[in-house]
Amino acid sequence: MMERNMEVTAYCNCGKCCCWEHGLLVSPTHYLALSQQTRTLFPIPSLRLKRRRKNPYQDEKEQKTFIFDKYWTATTLRGCVYEGKTALGDLPKQARPGPLNARSLRKPLRLALRVALAPWCLLGRTGTIAADLDLYPFGTRMYVPGYGWGEVRDCGSAIKGPHRLDLFFNSHGEALKWGRRQCRVKVVKPNKEWIDRQVLVPGAVKGAVKGIDRAIQCLFGG
Ligand SMILES: [Zn+2]
Repeated sequence: MMERNMEVTAYCNCGKCCCWEHGLLVSPTHYLALSQQTRTLFPIPSLRLKRRRKNPYQDEKEQKTFIFDKYWTATTLRGCVYEGKTALGDLPKQARPGPLNARSLRKPLRLALRVALAPWCLLGRTGTIAADLDLYPFGTRMYVPGYGWGEVRDCGSAIKGPHRLDLFFNSHGEALKWGRRQCRVKVVKPNKEWIDRQVLVPGAVKGAVKGIDRAIQCLFGG
């Protein structure tokens, strides 16, 4: 494990953070972009016909067509359907601390309530982090103070270099609240001997082992 000072920003799945817009399919090659002109006093909906593209990184069979969809407005995927997935291909998640961290142990009542009311929240959850994949490959685990444990599963055009990270949040409000912070981040490079994603282990076993791992890291690392 190593520690690094980093500039940490936040994002969510909204069109502002992830550069997408709503679009109405009008032909296999074009869609009608629905956006709002915000520079005027009242938001005026604007309609523009735009070129629709097939995602070059995805199997054509997996690409579904819907009448109303979200479309990329920037990056190399401009005009492709936006699915809200990470660069690794799963859905991004916000970090949630496990029950056995210093904070919840100081508030035993809250811990008891959690056990009673929301036992599925007991294992905590690893958040999605976007980083420079050349330096921090997929699977790199990081502890960001104020956010919790996360894993590198995404990337971004503005997230380059060893001192830049972007954290996923469920809402734009929470992402704005995070803003831009300087953090001392713990970095754990992916360990191939640890649960190998390619090995077929039953989901429940994998989940339990991961949960214990997270609890230990929350207890001793957080
Ligand atoms: Zn957002």
